[in-house]
Amino acid sequence: MILDGKLVAKGTREEIKKEVQAINKDGKEVGLCVVLVGNDPASLVYVNNKIKASNEVGIKSYLYKLEADVSQDEVLALLDKLNKDDKINGIIVQLPLPKTLDETTILNAIDPKKDVDGCHYVQKGKLWTGNPELIACTPFGVMKILEYYNIDVKGKHAVIVGRSNLVGKPLAQLLLAKDATVTICHSKTKDIKEIASKADILCAAVGKANFITVDMVKQGAIVIDIGINRVEGKLYGDVDYDSVKEICSYITPVPGGVGPMTVTMLLYNTLKAYKLYK
Ligand code: NAP
Repeated sequence: MILDGKLVAKGTREEIKKEVQAINKDGKEVGLCVVLVGNDPASLVYVNNKIKASNEVGIKSYLYKLEADVSQDEVLALLDKLNKDDKINGIIVQLPLPKTLDETTILNAIDPKKDVDGCHYVQKGKLWTGNPELIACTPFGVMKILEYYNIDVKGKHAVIVGRSNLVGKPLAQLLLAKDATVTICHSKTKDIKEIASKADILCAAVGKANFITVDMVKQGAIVIDIGINRVEGKLYGDVDYDSVKEICSYITPVPGGVGPMTVTMLLYNTLKAYKLYK
């Protein structure tokens, strides 16, 4: 069965829109600010999607485009200004940043109360100690898809391939919090095939097209493909979809799986930040 992220996203966005409309009726606004550094074409597409989606649900969006050679101090000064701006409830800095900038310092300069992609140490700490508040959008989106399809992860063996701060690690914590038994694989893991093929839930966040092949998947497994890889202008996930879909019980397609949920959970988190800290 295909796990339709577009469908889940549509319903969630309608709920968000209703709440935002009620806030707007009271003459108030919910604001999301996106900061883009440089001209990476893929980042530009993602940023435009975020702006478009926030406008569609009535969240007021603000876009700051900075040159690739901007200094670290200039970015920090902008974030300081945005942190103090009452019109803005959520801030997201589009990744990756140019190599000249220190990602950790920049992400931790966002006020945790406005950290709608759950990147700040405070938000990560809250997640890891079982008190999640603003959760990283992509893994949060994965959990919403599982919830929508009533997939209970309790007691299941979840294998995540990829350990990034943005995807793999927070996803591991979210699955653990729902009582899955979690294994995380990475580039130094020995015999990923052996580990992956034991997974009840296999999540791929590697960034390599068709990395997960059918011989790595257990019959009846739930397969979550987080990868977005552009090969000769076409989008591929990290899973060899055509062959894997024949043996698994559930699978997210690329595109149309986790991707639409990432943007949706950004809107969700922005509304949540407004409600918590306006
Ligand atoms: P990342 O920061 O590059 O992390 C990739 C992870 O994969 C790392 O932990 C790396 O291991 C591991 N890895 C790389 N090669 C491997 C190999 N041969 N065997 C095992 N593990 C390997 O990427 P990311 O930000 O997590 O993103 C992962 C994918 O998800 C990308 O395709 C990205 O475009 C996509 N993505 C999609 C969404 C969405 O909305 N759907 C959002 C974010 C990201 P090491 O740690 O050892 O280097």
